[in-house]
Amino acid sequence: MATAIAENVEIKQIGSLKGKGLFSKTAFKKGDVIFEEKPLVSCQFAWNELYKYKACEFCMQALETAEENSRRLTENKGITLPYPECCEVKPEEHAVCPQCQIEYCSAQCRDAAWAQYHRVLCLGMSREDQDHPINRLLEAWRNIHFPPETATIMLLAKMIATVKQAEDKDAVLGMFSSFVQNTVNEEEQIVHKLLGEQFQDPMELLWRLTSEALYEEAAQQWFTPEGFKSLFALIGRNGQGIGSSSISVWVRNCEALEHSTEEKEKVEEFIDQLYEQLDQVAGMFLNVEGSGLYQLQSACNHSCVPNAEITFPHNNHTLVLVAMETIEPEQEICISYLSECSLSRSRHSRQRVLKDNYLFSCNCPKCLSQADDPDVTSEEEMDDEEEEGEEERGTGDG
Ligand SMILES: [Zn+2]
Ligand SMILES: [Zn+2]
Ligand SMILES: [Zn+2]
Repeated sequence: MATAIAENVEIKQIGSLKGKGLFSKTAFKKGDVIFEEKPLVSCQFAWNELYKYKACEFCMQALETAEENSRRLTENKGITLPYPECCEVKPEEHAVCPQCQIEYCSAQCRDAAWAQYHRVLCLGMSREDQDHPINRLLEAWRNIHFPPETATIMLLAKMIATVKQAEDKDAVLGMFSSFVQNTVNEEEQIVHKLLGEQFQDPMELLWRLTSEALYEEAAQQWFTPEGFKSLFALIGRNGQGIGSSSISVWVRNCEALEHSTEEKEKVEEFIDQLYEQLDQVAGMFLNVEGSGLYQLQSACNHSCVPNAEITFPHNNHTLVLVAMETIEPEQEICISYLSECSLSRSRHSRQRVLKDNYLFSCNCPKCLSQADDPDVTSEEEMDDEEEEGEEERGTGDG
């Protein structure tokens, strides 16, 4: 299951509300990899999947070639991408689950999913059967949580299935309980954020359907109404957005090609036009999207002047934390939970987004130095703030 190269960092208790933080055990230079980590579980979002963003069921790598992806998203079947060798998708390596035909980027991913959770979650011949308990749960979820998506009930299903399949169930339960737990009051706020104002009924429906589909004695504390809400709040609070896109990999590789100036301009123009078409038809929904639970990353506190950033260079769910500046041994490693855009705003605006989405007040050096700034947001900020929040802690590839 999940592995992390963690010898360069350690999680330590600190006096803050969150209670812990991630600290370096060695020195890092700007650009150094601090650690690389795979999630305990990850899952594509439900609408994203329904809308045919094809992804590996295990690692979320995009399965469409850049050209297929472009054709679907622009609704233009005539598009041909130059430099097809810049696309890294390898259909010949893809594999399917022999029972349910769900797709994977490789036989390794298929086997890893089967070993961890898919034996329980495999629908076999019932994949299209809308009355199957798992499909009913998924449909109920989609009807409750519309795009832009920020979570998925299937992450929770994978957690339960992981416990069900584990030989040492207590060890797995222990790993999940190491994530930030929430107070009752925080739980209400998180569930409210995920399920809307009237969350009581949808919450109960999800609890009932999840229990019907996946009840597990060893994890019975998750199946009481209160325990279920806590579990739900846990994924809401700790879920890290993941995105992958074969188009962006193709673009990155094209831009790195050695070309004559003339050829370079031609390629750039092509890419600009492609993005224009994508923007017109698919808008902001370009990526395979989902979320995952990461043990080390979830111990990273926020700072408005972060010294590290989350990246997904492999175009799958493997998270790589990279130093943005020199980090000394024993120094706390902080990331920004805010989008780049929110991060550039006034202290008041930043605090508001952090409070709404992550339930804390930031005391980072920048916020402290601006503590005397007036509590106002500029008009421009007021305008966009309505849409704000949903996309925080985003996919990190953009
Ligand atoms: Zn995969
Ligand atoms: Zn299967
Ligand atoms: Zn701050």
